[in-house]
Amino acid sequence: TPSDSYQPEDTSYVHHQQRALKILAIGTAYEDTILYVEKFPPEDGKQRAQKVEKRRGGNAGNTLTILSQFPNFQSYFMASMASEEASNFLINDFEKHGIQTSACIFRQNAFHSPVAYIIQAEETSSRTIINYNSIEELTSAEFGEKFDELCDGETMSSLIGDVPFHWIHFEGRNVEETAKMMDYVDTKPWRSRTVVSVELEKPHRHGLEHLMRRADVIFFSKVFAEGKGYDHPGDFLTVMAPACKSTAYLFCTWGDAGASCFHNPTQRLFTAPALPITRVVDTVGAGDTFIAGVIYGLSLGVAPESVLRFACELAGHKCLQIGFDEEM
Ligand code: ADP
Repeated sequence: TPSDSYQPEDTSYVHHQQRALKILAIGTAYEDTILYVEKFPPEDGKQRAQKVEKRRGGNAGNTLTILSQFPNFQSYFMASMASEEASNFLINDFEKHGIQTSACIFRQNAFHSPVAYIIQAEETSSRTIINYNSIEELTSAEFGEKFDELCDGETMSSLIGDVPFHWIHFEGRNVEETAKMMDYVDTKPWRSRTVVSVELEKPHRHGLEHLMRRADVIFFSKVFAEGKGYDHPGDFLTVMAPACKSTAYLFCTWGDAGASCFHNPTQRLFTAPALPITRVVDTVGAGDTFIAGVIYGLSLGVAPESVLRFACELAGHKCLQIGFDEEM
């Protein structure tokens, strides 16, 4: 949990702390198989793993798993999934973590959930991922229907400023449909009182700038920045900032070099170091944990500079442990 140094600075958010902060994330859930090896294998070789683990993966769902550990956060996950039967493992895991899944869509003709095989190599602290996903993506029409159902189910209190969701987070995939989903959220009368964020991870996906300029908070990965030809998060964000809303907050993580934030309202760039770690145990989902830290901090009205530091610390602590479950 955050230390005393992270104090909310905008008191208009204080009322949130009395009631649950509701976060909806839209993404894809994976069945991850993680193989822990000493060294990354040579091609065509054969070797033993030290350990194998199966767990739920997928960026947005990981972020919710972290958020659900904070007091007063209620998480909701929406995705297009395999058939109900094939999705048992994933749905059970969400529910076990207190994440609501009533907005998930099940594709009855899909018999296998998306899978990811991850090789976590101790020697180099690398994690190499191969994934496979044949599930038809969520459409904006499906989103609209489920979203309205969810909103209707959220009885809003009479408190001024109440909203069905305080934060709506999208994985930057399926660009055309996701842009329509964001446009749909924009039609809601309470839109100005919620935060919409998007994670942009893969640089080769086309049209991501359409998502960038629709979001209030944008999360870029190092891979994304490097793919665009940048080798420093600050340089990258400074170039991206004019393509985003004038009110936007932009974040870019940079592995063991920490992360940066560009705050468009003040045109200021902040940089925070990573937590110094001597022995990295598991970096799968470090970026997702960083995002959870930012969502948590900004939801409570913490200033961007402190949010950035807190998110780096939280993500660093995640690297010291396997998975997301133990005490952080
Ligand atoms: P991803 O999981 O998307 O690859 P990154 O590797 O950029 O994301 O990491 C996200 C955040 O996690 C970083 O900004 C940093 O704060 C933390 N982090 C990642 N790797 C390390 C590391 N080796 N040591 C300390 N912190 C780390």
